[in-house]
Amino acid sequence: MRALVSPQCTYADVLNTCVNSISCATLTQRINAITTQLNNAAQDFDTKAVTADLFQIQPFFGADTDNVVGQVTKKELKGLYTYHLVPAKKPARQYYDQIMMQAPLRICPFCGFGQVTTLDHYLPKAKFPLLSILPKNLVPSCADCNKGKSAGIATSKNEQCLHPYFDQGHFINDQWLFAEVIHSSPATISYFVQAPGHWNASDQARVNSHFDDFKLANRFSIQAGDEISNLRGELDIDFQISQQAGVEQALRKKYAGASLQHTNSWKTAMYQALAASAWYCSGGFK
Ligand SMILES: [Zn+2]
Repeated sequence: MRALVSPQCTYADVLNTCVNSISCATLTQRINAITTQLNNAAQDFDTKAVTADLFQIQPFFGADTDNVVGQVTKKELKGLYTYHLVPAKKPARQYYDQIMMQAPLRICPFCGFGQVTTLDHYLPKAKFPLLSILPKNLVPSCADCNKGKSAGIATSKNEQCLHPYFDQGHFINDQWLFAEVIHSSPATISYFVQAPGHWNASDQARVNSHFDDFKLANRFSIQAGDEISNLRGELDIDFQISQQAGVEQALRKKYAGASLQHTNSWKTAMYQALAASAWYCSGGFK
């Protein structure tokens, strides 16, 4: 997981620009009539996000044609995103692009390796239509993370995956992602979560939820498999020069480099495990 700086655009900017681009006068009127409720929902999101209580926001279980608030349907609220924020020719697209740019190098903050191609609704718009264009509910994401998570919604604090704008500090700085070397040929890497014992129980549960929701065990292993096949030739040279100690040193350097950048990346955990594996360093890499 990578932390992101929250989007700079305000909800008022995004909402006004989207509403101003609606061509149907009665829809504009009906949406303007629920501005207070929209702002209240946004404020409630902000308050609950800070204490990781977003799961307390009540989902809307009605159909697309049902009114969510006042005379505005779920379909119309979702449409603010689909027809007024996303399309390239709409004026609010500037905010969509701004939010996409929150992810440095366009790397997905949820998995830490995928390429950002979309905005993920942290609380999905199908169940939280009042939050469909709230900037802090929109997180740049890769397609796999976006698809992977859309299935369910958290019903308790523990089930909430990490939110890159709000869950920072110890989630980023303390190591909770680890790996193990599997003695296969070629070697493979198996990932697991082990949150620091001094964390509170819900934070410990949440990193596990994050790891499971985005199916990171399997996705990280695939990334590691590719890296391991590239390593073989390089480590062969280290081994010829200074045997097991040379391989171990080369891997320690890579671990140090990766860990300086990101404590909880698949790469950091992988190099940490490889450097510590006598089996791998003494020839398992071949
Ligand atoms: Zn991702």
